[in-house]
Amino acid sequence: MANAKENGACRYSLGQEGRELVLTLACKECSGRGPLSDPACLGRALEALAAEDGVDTLIISGHIETQIQLAGMAVLGRLVVLAGDLRQLSMRDPPRDCRDRHRCALRPGELFEALRTSLLSDAASFPAVMRDRIARINGLVCTAGPACRECHDATGEDLDLIAQSFDELARYIIKQGFQIVV
Ligand SMILES: [Zn+2]
Repeated sequence: MANAKENGACRYSLGQEGRELVLTLACKECSGRGPLSDPACLGRALEALAAEDGVDTLIISGHIETQIQLAGMAVLGRLVVLAGDLRQLSMRDPPRDCRDRHRCALRPGELFEALRTSLLSDAASFPAVMRDRIARINGLVCTAGPACRECHDATGEDLDLIAQSFDELARYIIKQGFQIVV
């Protein structure tokens, strides 16, 4: 099984090795430098992991073949889970009687999908993107009645939860970084 819909995208294939489901990302022909040094390739690796359930091992096939260690897989898995939470939030319906529902900055489909893209394409810049969104939303004045205000509050709570999840993830990554066995 392989996907190569976009030009320049990293192709991937799935295979079974013993009891392990192995996803191999081919970064020989893509224009990137591979997930270890190229955020675009890393984003595609995460998208592939998000699209395929239950992958145990990720192999990056570039000029040399690299297998991601267990600790690395755990970090990627957590990023995929957080991306899944953002997708879930993006599917929520905006309030029915909101007059500005097509222009509102709180449209879940736009807001949370943009955050998901930011997380997967460049996780390091995610906190800054979040801060920017939260500041913009705090500056919004809801004039369209109680449904709008409710949506505004609920969105603020969702963003707080996502920010907390990301903080936990960052702490987890730092902890993993210190678990080096020589
Ligand atoms: Zn690539």
